[in-house]
Amino acid sequence: MAFSEILGQDSAVALLKKSIQNQRIPSAFLFTGPNHIGKQKTMTAVAQNLNCLRGGEDACLSCDACLQIAHQSFPDYSMVVPDGKFIKIDQIKEALKWLHLRSNTGNYRVLGIKNAEKLNKESANAFLKTLEEPPAQTLIILSAENSQQLLETIVSRCQIIQFRLLKKDHVQSILTAHQNLTREQIAFLSCFAMGKVPLDWIEKVDLLQTLRENIIEFLISLSAARMEEIFNTIAKWGPAKEKEWAYMLDFLEFWFRDLDWLAHDLHEDSLINQDRIKQIRICLQQFHPQQIRVTYNKIIQTRERIVMNAHVSLAMEALWIYIKRNLAI
Ligand SMILES: [Zn+2]
Repeated sequence: MAFSEILGQDSAVALLKKSIQNQRIPSAFLFTGPNHIGKQKTMTAVAQNLNCLRGGEDACLSCDACLQIAHQSFPDYSMVVPDGKFIKIDQIKEALKWLHLRSNTGNYRVLGIKNAEKLNKESANAFLKTLEEPPAQTLIILSAENSQQLLETIVSRCQIIQFRLLKKDHVQSILTAHQNLTREQIAFLSCFAMGKVPLDWIEKVDLLQTLRENIIEFLISLSAARMEEIFNTIAKWGPAKEKEWAYMLDFLEFWFRDLDWLAHDLHEDSLINQDRIKQIRICLQQFHPQQIRVTYNKIIQTRERIVMNAHVSLAMEALWIYIKRNLAI
């Protein structure tokens, strides 16, 4: 991943390039910003730029070092990802031990910590000494959605690099590079991506398109028979399945946001479901305008309750019953 391939993060990339070119590399960077906008790719680009054997203005991507980093087989590049809900103390101890080993190769040793907000207090504290006195020729890169989620003592020892949500044309360019997506799927995903490119959405695009069509149909004709059908579908998913409930909540949230938008006579250009304006208008006639925002809030609450361990099927059923009760007709 060359810096030139990172789309939509010009100021972050410019800062990193300058730092490498001037050989003023801090002991640690902290990449902040939402997930799925290129922080991970940029970590790889930094490791490649620091170790590229050709040493040009950007990584060559074809020397042994660049290739090994791309394939995660480079001996001086390591990545820590959360093991379950947290990054555990043993993971950090092992990573720090590795970081302090003297590299015989003369390479720049780079340690990435993905989702550093999941460092628990014990793991974060284990880190502090190394951040204060890092071994020579090493760089730590932490990534987190928000610096406020980290201990101030960690943040103050890092140079913060802010990443931003991507513009729609950048999202489309990234999606277009995925050769197995059709033009319709690219349009669908870029509407819902909201400035991000979640890989799981790309992998499950067929499932997601079907889910959204089902939800639109359910909302437009909420008969008793339809409700039975919805409950059967939800019961089949169960909590162990592929997060269908989470996608259903996403689509419901987007749909009611669009309804709210139109109920306030705001412009159609800003709708998320751009390709379904006719159906949004049909659905709009079925709800009292004041109930739309209330239902929207109920969708958000349902997600929060499930995250806090509420029973998935029961919570989803309760939400659909609520939606049906609020129909104006
Ligand atoms: Zn190279």
